[in-house]
Amino acid sequence: MKKPSRPRRRARKILRVKTCRLCENKIYRIDFKDVDLIKRYQTEGGRILPRRITGNCYKHQKCLAQAVKRARILALVL
Ligand SMILES: [Zn+2]
Repeated sequence: MKKPSRPRRRARKILRVKTCRLCENKIYRIDFKDVDLIKRYQTEGGRILPRRITGNCYKHQKCLAQAVKRARILALVL
């Protein structure tokens, strides 16, 4: 006999509106010398965190990626 399958309740997703922190703090230009800021948007291995995780807007993500790459050349970050 097969057990009657119970309808499985789906775990409710916590909906959280992600906002761009940089927009909130009114940071318009990301300086590549700002190591503390850049490191916040990197993994431990030094990779740039994707937008789906950080919630950055397109513009800021682009700026950030550029800043990270510049900082890498100067060996400020990984
Ligand atoms: Zn933004």
